[in-house]
Amino acid sequence: MSEELGVSVGKEENFSEWYLDVVRKGGFVDQRTPVKGCDVFMPWGFAIWENIQRIADPMFKEHGVKNAYFPLFIPKSLLEKEAKHFSGFVPEVAWVTRGGDEELDEWLAIRPTSETIMYYTFSKWISSYRDLPLRINQWVNVVRWETKATRPFLRTREFLWQEGHTVHATYEEAAKEVLDIIEIYSQIFDEYLALPFLVLKRTENDKFAGADYSIAFDTFVPEAGRFLQLGTVHHLGQNFSRPFEITFKDRDQRVKYAYQTSWGFSTRLIGAIIAFHGDDRGAIIPPAVAPVQAVVIPIPFKGKEETVMEAARKIYSELEYMGVRVELDDREDKTPGWKFNEWELKGVPLRVEVGPRDVERGGFTLVRRDTGDKFFETDLRRVPELLEEIQENLRERAWEKFRSSIMTVEDMDGVKKAVEEKKIARTYWCGDEACEFGVKEETGAEIRGTRFDVDESGEAKGKKCFFCGGEANFVVYIGKSW
Ligand SMILES: [Zn+2]
Repeated sequence: MSEELGVSVGKEENFSEWYLDVVRKGGFVDQRTPVKGCDVFMPWGFAIWENIQRIADPMFKEHGVKNAYFPLFIPKSLLEKEAKHFSGFVPEVAWVTRGGDEELDEWLAIRPTSETIMYYTFSKWISSYRDLPLRINQWVNVVRWETKATRPFLRTREFLWQEGHTVHATYEEAAKEVLDIIEIYSQIFDEYLALPFLVLKRTENDKFAGADYSIAFDTFVPEAGRFLQLGTVHHLGQNFSRPFEITFKDRDQRVKYAYQTSWGFSTRLIGAIIAFHGDDRGAIIPPAVAPVQAVVIPIPFKGKEETVMEAARKIYSELEYMGVRVELDDREDKTPGWKFNEWELKGVPLRVEVGPRDVERGGFTLVRRDTGDKFFETDLRRVPELLEEIQENLRERAWEKFRSSIMTVEDMDGVKKAVEEKKIARTYWCGDEACEFGVKEETGAEIRGTRFDVDESGEAKGKKCFFCGGEANFVVYIGKSW
């Protein structure tokens, strides 16, 4: 089979094909596996996840979260304990019904999420107000038996994530925890992944099965015209502590049910980075999470091969010493042009070219992946500085692109127009489920929620619901999603 390099279709032209091309040819994922929706995260894709973990894990710990590991198998009776939770997840649970030759007495779910198995144990750990708050996180895989079309990183049956679970003495403390986690997630997504988002409170109908309320981080990919959920934070109230009997003796000697939160983000973030930042040449990975931040490519010239290689090696080792994640591409069977294309496809933020002319002039040529700008430099300290500039530029242009995707509209015609133009419709809603289901049925787009970080409800006063024309109570954001 011949190896075809480069993306064969424009991002705007056909997003789905473009995305598949980038993740496959860029070496992020291998989908040639025997089970649909269970992909191989290849080293290049997995390294982004490792970098996200390296950033997020200390932030969680700083907040008092401890890591643990809970079992993969959840007995059916446990999963059933919170009725809404169970009915929310049952359509996508993968079950183990046999062990060896024996039919199991009780089916075991492969964890779709770990509230039930964790809370079963938490009830044994917690007896006094002194045991609170409890903050546990795990970095694990989960399985959700998707029946819809799968898409690498964005919708897969097996994926990796972190799930944080906390237990508190009061409703208010759990609500404060939700705010704290929102703060941490905001920093991770904005500063490090350079991804823009709305912090939305999901509708009653759309919240996590078993939550009091759910807050979601939604980004939006303009070329696809679709929302993409980056992470969620749920206030669980006492919905789980009651069936799981997570109680504690408070200072006043009374035994009370605890309040809980859960929160998570997944390997979908890898897909979000590729989908949002990429261009017609391939992926663009923000320097903060790029597996390789700068690639050094020697450009040999007849008679000057050794001088060029020597200069390239020196630049490589100095950058490495400076703490830059750097790679030297000294493959002899590939031309420099081929290498340029490959590293652009993989999304490396900065290219360092070293040719005979550069060596003569005592420097090197830098090429930015985000802007394509190319310039001669002599000081290697420019490299880490530039990486920071690239990070900031990606972030700024991402927010700009995101903000310009929001269209404020007044009625269904406006919503339809926004959806057709691959925009987010921002409009006014009465709060009635009938209107929520109505717009979904007519356009395939859904109400994603109301702003949680900013109270916009005042603006809805005196406005009419986009769907039924009744009195509006909320400003909502509508769009298609993955
Ligand atoms: Zn309405």
